[in-house]
Amino acid sequence: MNSENNREFAGGETAGLPRGLEDMSDTPEQHEGGCFCGAVRYRVRGAPTYAGNCHCRDCQRAIGAGFVTWVGAKPENFDVTKGEIATCETSPGVHRGFCGRCGSSLTFSGDNWTDIGITAASLDEPGAVKPESNVYLDHQQPWVMIDKTLRCYEKFPD
Ligand SMILES: [Zn+2]
Ligand SMILES: [Zn+2]
Repeated sequence: MNSENNREFAGGETAGLPRGLEDMSDTPEQHEGGCFCGAVRYRVRGAPTYAGNCHCRDCQRAIGAGFVTWVGAKPENFDVTKGEIATCETSPGVHRGFCGRCGSSLTFSGDNWTDIGITAASLDEPGAVKPESNVYLDHQQPWVMIDKTLRCYEKFPD
């Protein structure tokens, strides 16, 4: 995503997260996470720059689930502390990161995206993040219930 989208994603008046969240990434807050088998561990410094559910077909197929909850971080605040993240270019300029041993999906990065996306479920405390929106609902599966109190978008918000 580009930086403009990023701000929109993190900040509207009806955001579920406090306004100014994108400015909190330099706080002492810290999150750790890793893959299922433990071969890969990572650390995120600061508060998430965004948290949202993506229902796009690429995420569905890459993760093997109805949607993926992504948590954003500035690349400079994301460190792999153990092992290494394997990547697959799932569309031009889009790289999805995973554990090469157990296959856990871990990250998303793209040429048009300022921040790195991290799968919320790979955090040690997934409940610490609160998704603020649903995007790409044009590909919502009929068996996925949507929290309508979140901001909802058919595509990705401009
Ligand atoms: Zn693993
Ligand atoms: Zn997606």
